[in-house]
Amino acid sequence: MSTSWLYHGFGVRGYRYVKTEYVWGGMVITMERPWQACRCVACGSENVWRHGWVVRRFRTVPIGRREVFLKARIPRLACQACGAVRQAALGFADARRTYTKSFERYALELSRHMTIKAVAMHLGVSWDVIKDIQKRYLHRRFSRPKLKPLRQIAIDEISTGKGHQYVTIVMDLETGAVALPSVAGHAPEEGPQGRPLVALETAGTPRRLSP
Ligand SMILES: [Zn+2]
Repeated sequence: MSTSWLYHGFGVRGYRYVKTEYVWGGMVITMERPWQACRCVACGSENVWRHGWVVRRFRTVPIGRREVFLKARIPRLACQACGAVRQAALGFADARRTYTKSFERYALELSRHMTIKAVAMHLGVSWDVIKDIQKRYLHRRFSRPKLKPLRQIAIDEISTGKGHQYVTIVMDLETGAVALPSVAGHAPEEGPQGRPLVALETAGTPRRLSP
């Protein structure tokens, strides 16, 4: 295994391969980020000094049935420009997660064909981890819909439970796609440019309101 294998096999760039250990049927790949090539995460300055190391372990995509972990030595940097002392950017993983971006992409790809439980069992993680990956993907993908291309919208109100709990759905009338997933009790704060055609669903039949 080598530094280039880290990149081509696991999508890890900017790290030096150190060693591989085989533990409990899995693999632990140790790698190190050369601090001389790092920048300050606060201001982007290259004028940094090393201020110790942090060792973290991340789950990455398996090789067959063998679990693979990346053990990364990450430098802490003291910035001479802004004075901040921070851990260098990881690059291959979200700083708050214990798995890599490639693991996340793999889990999402499997989720298109398998249940959450099956994906979790296959990857050796809990149901909550896969559910969290899916939730964050959906949030990234749909939380900020592009409203500018909208020309015709339809607004519907649906009940979400017993009693009088309702959410408002705003749809693109031309494509049928949901433009704003839920606007609980409020009209959309930001509308498309110009004066769009608006249809309001009442008793199943869209009714034109404007222009
Ligand atoms: Zn700085």
